[in-house]
Amino acid sequence: MINMARPVIGKKERQLIKEVLDSRILASGKYVTWFEQSFARYCGVKFGIANVNGTASLHTALLMCGVKPGDKVVTTPFSFIATSNSILFCGAKPVFTDIDPKTFNIDPVELEKTLRTEKNIKAVLTVHLYGLPCDMNAILRLRDKYKFKLIEDSCQAHGAEFRNKKVGSFGNASAFSFYATKNMMTGEGGIILTNDIKAAEYGRQLINHGRDGHSMHAVLGYNYRLTNLAAAIGIAQLDQLENRIAKRIANARKYSEAFKDLSFLQTPYVPENCRHVFHQYTIRISVSERKKFIGYLADNGIESGIYYDTVLYKQPFYKRFGYEDRLCREAEKAADEVLSLPVHPSLSKADADKIIKVIKGYEK
Ligand SMILES: *Cc1c(COP(=O)(O)O)cnc(C)c1O
Repeated sequence: MINMARPVIGKKERQLIKEVLDSRILASGKYVTWFEQSFARYCGVKFGIANVNGTASLHTALLMCGVKPGDKVVTTPFSFIATSNSILFCGAKPVFTDIDPKTFNIDPVELEKTLRTEKNIKAVLTVHLYGLPCDMNAILRLRDKYKFKLIEDSCQAHGAEFRNKKVGSFGNASAFSFYATKNMMTGEGGIILTNDIKAAEYGRQLINHGRDGHSMHAVLGYNYRLTNLAAAIGIAQLDQLENRIAKRIANARKYSEAFKDLSFLQTPYVPENCRHVFHQYTIRISVSERKKFIGYLADNGIESGIYYDTVLYKQPFYKRFGYEDRLCREAEKAADEVLSLPVHPSLSKADADKIIKVIKGYEK
């Protein structure tokens, strides 16, 4: 089976892990600081606060931006559930706005409609889905006009760029995940980035039980600290990130070239001013055809994945909030039609060639 993901682990991961084990300092320590500073520098942001996972990073980022019970936060319904759950963790209300069917990201035109109709929006949580940056020019223009805090869910987009600037550097704060299958990983892990020193200090306090100096706890905090062990893996992974992104992009280009004349599927769209890092290579295929196509791929030893087959406001837990049924038409259509193919950097040339051959041989 050609799988959807396979973490790559090199010599440096092993060497740094051994250093940490030998040091006997397994929880917080200098590898965490080293990793935070390296990742923040890579993204062109001043401060990095390492965190246990991407979900807790989103929670912390929202708190750092002052999101509190009763606030409204606009986000996309076409994402992983952690995106909107992090808003609920703050006691705030997710307000869903529709996506652009070409990019799968928040449509700035829809976002402006939502900002006009829903008053008192505290923040916007935007997601760079599959590794493709949102239209940051349009979103920053809206921030100037409507004065909200901007948080970037960059959990799928390490190294992605909008106009040569890394995602995670546009918002008031941003969150990344280093879960095992992401473009770079630490097993479980995450980081929050911000250029705002006050927010950074507050975030640092939030992830460490609200601790203020030694034993004073001035705010309700959490234990969201990353370990030295995980950070050691992250340092080694960051070293290889650009190489691995290059392989993902090369695989994606090869697919898109090979599939461009196939009428039963639509290849991913990449706007000219964006560097898409292809956490997922996601095609569209008609809802009537998708199941059969997935079966055909599986019969030929190729795994595929649907991210995501249910819009967030239709998740069982979200029923209680009473969202309108056909709230975001484009997101619902995308949920019916998307399909992701293996694009990860450990695919061999033979794997990629096989995927192309099998897909070109598909008959409706
Ligand atoms: C992975 C992911 C998260 C959550 O990250 P974890 O590290 O798994 O907690 C949040 N948002 C998006 C878009 C993700 O892909």
